[in-house]
Amino acid sequence: MELKVARIGVVGLGLIGGSFALAVRRYLPDVYIAGYDARLSEMTLAKRLGAIDELAPSVEWLAAQVDLLMLAVPVQAMRSVLAAIRSVNRPEVLISDVGSVKGVVEEAFNSVFGELPPRAVLGHPIAGSEKSGMAAARVELFQRHKVILTPIETTDLQALAVMRQLWQTLGAEVLEMSPRHHDEVLAATSHLPHLLAFSLVDTLAGKDDNKEIFRYAAGGFRDFTRIAASDPIMWRDIFLSNRDAVLKALDQYVDGLGHLRAAIAAGDARFMMGVFSRAKVAREHFSKMLEQKSYKSMNQEKRITFVAQSKGPVCGDIRVPGDKSISHRSIMLGSLAEGVTEVEGFLEGEDALATLQAFRDMGVVIEGPDRGKVTVYGVGLNGLKPPAGSLYLGNSGTSMRLLTGLLAAQAFDTELTGDASLSKRPMERVAGPLRKMGAKIETGENGRPPVRISGGQRLKGMHYDMPVASAQVKSGILLAGLYAEGETSVSEPAPTRDHSERMLRGFGYDVRVDGNRASLTGGGCLKATRIDVPSDISSAAFFLVAASITPGSDLTLRHVGINPTRTGVIDILRMMGANIELSNLREVGGEPVADIRVRYAPLKGIQIPEALVPLAIDEFPVLFIAAVCAAGETVLTGAEELRVKESDRIQVMADGLKQLGVETDVLKDGIRIQGSDLQGGRVDSHGDHRIAMAFSVAALRAKGDITILDCANVATSFPGFVELANESGFSIETLSEG
Ligand code: NAP
Repeated sequence: MELKVARIGVVGLGLIGGSFALAVRRYLPDVYIAGYDARLSEMTLAKRLGAIDELAPSVEWLAAQVDLLMLAVPVQAMRSVLAAIRSVNRPEVLISDVGSVKGVVEEAFNSVFGELPPRAVLGHPIAGSEKSGMAAARVELFQRHKVILTPIETTDLQALAVMRQLWQTLGAEVLEMSPRHHDEVLAATSHLPHLLAFSLVDTLAGKDDNKEIFRYAAGGFRDFTRIAASDPIMWRDIFLSNRDAVLKALDQYVDGLGHLRAAIAAGDARFMMGVFSRAKVAREHFSKMLEQKSYKSMNQEKRITFVAQSKGPVCGDIRVPGDKSISHRSIMLGSLAEGVTEVEGFLEGEDALATLQAFRDMGVVIEGPDRGKVTVYGVGLNGLKPPAGSLYLGNSGTSMRLLTGLLAAQAFDTELTGDASLSKRPMERVAGPLRKMGAKIETGENGRPPVRISGGQRLKGMHYDMPVASAQVKSGILLAGLYAEGETSVSEPAPTRDHSERMLRGFGYDVRVDGNRASLTGGGCLKATRIDVPSDISSAAFFLVAASITPGSDLTLRHVGINPTRTGVIDILRMMGANIELSNLREVGGEPVADIRVRYAPLKGIQIPEALVPLAIDEFPVLFIAAVCAAGETVLTGAEELRVKESDRIQVMADGLKQLGVETDVLKDGIRIQGSDLQGGRVDSHGDHRIAMAFSVAALRAKGDITILDCANVATSFPGFVELANESGFSIETLSEG
């Protein structure tokens, strides 16, 4: 590496200084390293363990020898060490530290040097343990841990780059922030939890029956109080050094605790549920956010293979998971409504959970989700509060586009961010038209996230002619229209899903639809309602086909959404001769739902009318399986869009069918499939959840086992698919690797 540091001196050879020396020795074996510690025993141990080349007789001696001095003494000892360094007068030496509080170290420099010298780069590795001393040092301590560097305006940029590179070489991830911000963040995330652990253990230990208490203490107590075994001297120093920031965090905490105390005293179950469920979801959300990951990418790290066998018949009475689009909107409109909205059948997938967390971050009390049940305490159209930071929306494009519209008219500023994949998606298609209404919105590079929205703008209603049909853009504009002066209307070049219009009506808002144009007038209000989220017809489709092609089948799917923009699959299957009956038709939150009974029937091939293509666009992979099991030829045209879904669904299905002995004729915008027998074989879903589930259905009629590769994404789009399928007569085994 080009690090111009050939000689390093470490002052303080305890846990952190010792680990630093060991890591430098391992990853930069050519660097000379000497160490000084107030205790001779620590120095000799460091030498014996090979962490240092030489014992330094004093700090002054060390300061005269090296290019870089790393100070790893307790923060209260920094001043005396700095005085010794100053006396040597070598301004070219780079000085850094690892102190847990930065403001006080900066002050120590100021009092000794009259300034923070440009070549002093303060830092703090967020790694450690409750043990101290050289004996506890570990060469891997900083691996995959964060190190915060806290440069100020006058910091030498080259020195900063050297420190950044050095820590990265030792395996750490380097972040930068101001010393003051560092101290506030650490007060809340590290210092406060340590204080609570010390206090709880001390309080319980002081009780007469303490032996009893500790004897029965279970895992929760141990997890929570592990950090009470930390070094008391170091922690005393930290609380002396970071007094103001800790007091601020402590006051906020005591305040929160006081409210919880009052809720317990008053038996206020709702308040407690609000706090506990917010905390639970926030904890999970933060973990993902910190890793900039989604469940999806975590699932993808595991390789999941399905091995599906012929079985059947497909029978029973089942309910498939809730519709994602409706789950999102139930949280958004429930939050903006007046009164309490009860939601059932909420799809607990990560996208809808990201929407839920965003509204919690804007002050809405939301209980759940608990097995699909969510209670939203609406705050009214103008009751959202500014979030503390940016709103993180994971991988959910729907959340980001709809929220951009909804937040364009709030009184406060917001920033919307997402994971790596969402950060590549275009946001201008919604930001552009919103600006015409008077919104102030900035998008990142090439019109991508982050989206920054300036609050306090007055929006004016307008008519927007969408150049490309998109339900998300239409919804974003209509949601902004709730706040705009006068009428807002959108017309679309082709029909798109109309869940927003329907649910707005379900919440009592007047939305007018006239042909391809939807309009509403700002200034109304939403009234809370009950929403039993309909099952997703796209998930139901796998079972509709499964029962249709497997002799002896008789299956009922309950409470399925039959929004006319989505029911192409029923129309197409019926044209092929399927036996599908709808009963118990009703409306929920503006959406039509029904129970669907499907029984085996011999199918015949058809020419699929192009008008039905947009209404069944997600269902074609499994409809291709129906076509293989039908007598004669089925032809699909006018479906180019299938080539740009999660995979090229025409080609990937054709390739998979070939593996199963079925020849197809791939067209530019569709496919021609002859009804034929299905053999066993090995197919690759290319990570496309719908392809994986379609081939699981194919296995019901195959002459041998079908092995389906790359199925991890099924769990995200259809939680519990394999279990529900096996209960109804499929035979799918899941193999997991990695
Ligand atoms: P440690 O294991 O106790 O080591 C500190 C060593 O420095 C001790 O051997 C100590 O000797 C010696 N020392 C004290 N004053 C000295 C002086 N004036 N000159 C030379 N040596 C002196 O402590 P640590 O956990 O490594 O902490 C070191 C620094 O890292 C602290 O600033 C702390 O805030 C920071 N830090 C700690 C952690 C953690 O989890 N422990 C994490 C991140 C950062 P005596 O024992 O005789 O005082």
